Amino acid sequence: MEHPENDPSYAGLTVNSGVESAPSVNPYLKKGRFAHRQLTVSDYVEGILKGNVTVLGQAVTLVESTHPDHQKTAQEVIEKCLPYSGNSIRVGISGVPGAGKSTSIDEFGIHVLKEYGGRLAVLAIDPSSERTKGSILGDKTRMEKLSVHPDSFIRPSPSAGSLGGVARKTRETIILCEAAGFDKIFVETVGVGQSETACHSMVDFFLLIQLAGTGDELQGIKRGIMEMADGIIINKCDGNNVDKCQLAATQFRNALHLFPMPDSGWSPQVLTYSGFYGYGIKEVWDMVYKYIDFVKDNGYFQHRRNEQAKFWMYESINEQLKNSFFQHPTLADMLQAEEKMVLEGRKTSFVAAHQLLDAYFALLH
Ligand code: GDP
Repeated sequence: MEHPENDPSYAGLTVNSGVESAPSVNPYLKKGRFAHRQLTVSDYVEGILKGNVTVLGQAVTLVESTHPDHQKTAQEVIEKCLPYSGNSIRVGISGVPGAGKSTSIDEFGIHVLKEYGGRLAVLAIDPSSERTKGSILGDKTRMEKLSVHPDSFIRPSPSAGSLGGVARKTRETIILCEAAGFDKIFVETVGVGQSETACHSMVDFFLLIQLAGTGDELQGIKRGIMEMADGIIINKCDGNNVDKCQLAATQFRNALHLFPMPDSGWSPQVLTYSGFYGYGIKEVWDMVYKYIDFVKDNGYFQHRRNEQAKFWMYESINEQLKNSFFQHPTLADMLQAEEKMVLEGRKTSFVAAHQLLDAYFALLH
């Protein structure tokens, strides 16, 4: 259309007509049957079982959604996928920020896909992402090689909710990924606080990435975390850091000797490697697979998964009970009033809690 400014009375000022936009940015893009309509539970299940990663990604979004309708659909999808899940090895990978998790996972992923084939999903548990409104863990941009690998699926941590909520969503995502044919699952978590415990409770092998430091690195690492590890790997064993890493490995080995033998019957191993230069990667994965064979033989593999399933049942109950209490509309005002009384010293915490719970139970009747 001609612009009115092109009228001769607007001398000195002409406006060219714009470039017409193409009917489609990518005319070769195939419009899949899932493209433009609301998927049903069976669409999701069918897509997932066919290994369609677009549908898988959409289903994971549903799992992460807090919308009650989405939650309901998600639960139905999960239930239908459950019989097809479980056929994988699940490895937890933890380390403090800067330990080299993403560099390592990139290398590890490429290694296992090359050596063992199959498909790999990288998930994450990062409760801190609720505050920052965005998770760095499991971020594709940090895993350059894996993110373009056709057999990988990378998903950052769900970012809404409590640690329990975030972890539950990651666990449910594992089920969907397995049903979609992902037979290797990495769960990345940051090595501070409670998130390792959550990660440990959903994996078959828990790998702890450590760095060699000042010689007293053992002081900084909590006993509980070391006890969870099935393998401790010391990263950045390259350049002039090699001696320090080997010294750290010896210290970790000595420290582990002081712990009782884990229920698995497997003594955790300590290895050094370099994620950046790719040294020692094979040894790390030989160890993981040796462990898997070992615990499959002695029955611990299934035992651990059963224990985890039980744990998650109780976790879900806890979570839902808490939500039902704290999100009860009638209780919200009462909670505030009671809290005020406690703060003013007019009631003890115990009495206030008791009265609130009594009120809650009365509301349920
Ligand atoms: P993350 O925070 O645990 O995910 O750690 P990154 O993978 O982002 O690594 C943190 C820094 O350590 C980056 O600058 C990496 O380049 C570096 N880094 C990671 N692995 C190695 C390694 O094996 N050797 C050396 N020298 N540097 C490494």
